[in-house]
Amino acid sequence: MRAMRIERHGGPEVIHVEDTATPAPGPHEIRVRNAACGVNFIDTYHRTGLYKIALPSGLGQEGAGVVDAAGANVSRFKLGDRVAYCSGPIGAYSEQHLVREDRAVLLPQAISFDVAAASLLKGMTARYLLRKTFRVERGHVVVVHAAAGGVGQILVQWAKHLGANVIATAGSDAKAAIAKSLGADHALVAAGDNIAKRVREITDGIGAHVVYDGVGKDTFEASLDCLRPRGMMVSFGNASGPPPPLNVLTLSQKGSLFLTRPTLAHYTATVEDLDETAADLFAVIEQGAVKIAPPTHYKLGEAAQAHRDLEARKTTGSLVLVP
Ligand code: NDP
Repeated sequence: MRAMRIERHGGPEVIHVEDTATPAPGPHEIRVRNAACGVNFIDTYHRTGLYKIALPSGLGQEGAGVVDAAGANVSRFKLGDRVAYCSGPIGAYSEQHLVREDRAVLLPQAISFDVAAASLLKGMTARYLLRKTFRVERGHVVVVHAAAGGVGQILVQWAKHLGANVIATAGSDAKAAIAKSLGADHALVAAGDNIAKRVREITDGIGAHVVYDGVGKDTFEASLDCLRPRGMMVSFGNASGPPPPLNVLTLSQKGSLFLTRPTLAHYTATVEDLDETAADLFAVIEQGAVKIAPPTHYKLGEAAQAHRDLEARKTTGSLVLVP
């Protein structure tokens, strides 16, 4: 079978195709014949080495397809089931991938492989950020950065569905227009300090209840300055690089702020949490409260180009590799 792999960390050029033996599942594993593989920003961190992984390695941790083999002890799935997964092991950019059965979810008929690969990781992230990390309620002022991106588009729609007042930021007028079309109350094309100033103007000087910041280095300071006293700073990504080190006293000086740096893995660590999170995501998609924009498709062998486009801020919504 074909799989995209890396021998060393580096730019997109280190990703290459390999013909490898089709793996046999262990007792608690299923083998998924991938119909679509999700591309996520975290895959670029694995490639560059920002997040350390053992080399050589596959890439990618999200896919959707059909169970085509199952280990002797598998009880959650049977051959032919439509499933999706996004919590590893790394190596999902491949025609077939082994996944522990308690790390996969059954797909409802209404959720296509394409939608699943475009939304499982990003949508479960939006779900835990909005429902668990900080529980967004009607009337909350919520700031979402990179609002036209994969996670961002889902955050905007789900926060609106919960009754929040959403202030979106994006890197261009065209991206801001996408955020607006998804329901954002305000969509700013702003940089640096300008973001905080605009959020304060919009909120009569009070600030936001919560900021969801997946951009990191370039927005971190401004995000803290967007918050009202006792507001919640959720730093969940590093698209522009990791945020700078923080003096804890800063949180006091800026208004007794809360700061968290959450990760999906810790919010879906048990199979119960995984199933509940996925079910909630599929429900808002099926209701139409969250619409998953058709993803941009790349052939499996074009994974390097997908990474180039994602890192160059050329993309909106999700990217999917088709084996
Ligand atoms: P996106 O589709 O959101 O792509 C990243 C976006 O970040 C870009 O489109 C761009 O939007 C913005 N950006 C701002 N500055 C830069 C820069 N210097 N280089 C590249 N992009 C930049 O990606 P994903 O939806 O896959 O992920 C979004 C973020 O969420 C990532 O940081 C990712 O790591 C994080 N994440 C965290 C999870 C967690 O559990 N902690 C789980 C899933 C994702 P614009 O041009 O509009 O600024």
